[in-house]
Amino acid sequence: MLHPSTHTSVATNNGAPTNSPIPSYLQADNLGPWGNYLQQVDRVVPYLGHLGRWADTLKRPKRILVVDVPIHLDNGTIAHFEGYRVQHNTSRGPGKGGVRFHQDVTLSEVMALSAWMSIKNAAVNVPYGGAKGGIRVDPKSLSMGELERMTRRYTSEIGIIIGPTKDIPAPDVNTNEQIMAWMMDTYSMNEGATATGVVTGKPIHLGGSLGRKDATGRGVFTVGVEAAKHIGLDIKGARIAVQGFGNVGGVAGRLFTEAGAKVVAVQDHGGTIYKAGGLNVPALLKHVAETGSAANFAGAEVLKNELFWEVDCDILIPAALESQITATNAGKIKAKMVIEGANGPTTPAADDILQERGVLVLPDVIANAGGVTVSYFEWVQDFSSFFWDEDEINARLVKIMKDAFAGVWAVAEEHKVSLRTATFIVACKRILHARELRGLYP
Ligand code: NAD
Repeated sequence: MLHPSTHTSVATNNGAPTNSPIPSYLQADNLGPWGNYLQQVDRVVPYLGHLGRWADTLKRPKRILVVDVPIHLDNGTIAHFEGYRVQHNTSRGPGKGGVRFHQDVTLSEVMALSAWMSIKNAAVNVPYGGAKGGIRVDPKSLSMGELERMTRRYTSEIGIIIGPTKDIPAPDVNTNEQIMAWMMDTYSMNEGATATGVVTGKPIHLGGSLGRKDATGRGVFTVGVEAAKHIGLDIKGARIAVQGFGNVGGVAGRLFTEAGAKVVAVQDHGGTIYKAGGLNVPALLKHVAETGSAANFAGAEVLKNELFWEVDCDILIPAALESQITATNAGKIKAKMVIEGANGPTTPAADDILQERGVLVLPDVIANAGGVTVSYFEWVQDFSSFFWDEDEINARLVKIMKDAFAGVWAVAEEHKVSLRTATFIVACKRILHARELRGLYP
């Protein structure tokens, strides 16, 4: 007998088909990021046509690995950390997605991030599925040696499912080139051969790509400029508020400033700063590099964190963590356009409020796809051991971002849907088309 909540059938002991119950951590009433993702998929199913019969594929990650990561601390004790690697979908190619080190990392979060990677990779049409990893740890509490031991042990533990043709990690929140170098080295040591293509976002001297560091911010900037043209917003003089001034937010802030915009507010883990006439972005980037935060930046006003969302601005760029724009603050946002540098910064309820209020949201799954696009270039260069110059990389990146955004814009107009739903329509069709062509094995 079929259970109404699922379409998946499995054989029972007596041979009659029945449904496998969906485990609680996969269900939509798990209100974490995975629950948000499931709601986003549900919104798109009506537009999938005959491919809709495969839609449950999108609601179940292909593979989830939870690992124990034990290390010796410098004080002689042993600490255990919980690590994850989730491969959401590999229909279109190997898994691809970053590794996050953060004290609040959960399985629900990593699952959602892996699923958004499937959507994003399909949206910009790079030949990857989606994956993501993470360790529940505050890396700032570790010494350099502890951080290296934890990274290496985690890499060894997930080594059974990653590889240049299987699943290729990359940097995310609190992980960087050095961590990618340790991951590449650990995997290579275990394999007995140097495998540069196992991770992207590596240092240039280890097969990294020129342009990778700035790529996500450059993609945010590129789609922002394209969207601004559609809504008649002049970038020159536009006021911008950025949450998160790290790899993504810092670069996006710099590129918008170079194009004549003003960054009027920045929020990071250290607090919120504001200057109506525009912050000195090069000086702020230097300050963040030296002190680790935008807090205490000379000449800026300090704002209470909750007031960040009400700042008078034209463009808001969330570039920190998930679920930051919620039903509570979406009504207060003054920006005409939100560009999602972060993954999953807007909840579905907030999305609806912004749409009703006429605020254009450029969704993460297209807006921050510049990083994975140049990661793809890095992987291609590693395979061919032939490296391109930065101008070529940036030109190819900008072309892919502009073309993908134009395609999504056209689908949004055709179906009169948000850009998020339009991106999901484009991406889910590509994923499920591949799924259908490959068929089910065995
Ligand atoms: P990062 O570690 O370089 O920077 C993170 C920033 O967020 C820092 O400025 C930090 O202070 C801030 N932050 C952390 N906690 C905060 C809080 N509670 N409130 C306000 N600010 C807070 O990370 P990143 O690489 O810039 O990634 C930022 C976001 O962009 C993440 O959602 C990530 O998944 C997404 N993203 C990154 C890339 C990439 O290539 N790095 C690609 C696509 C998406």
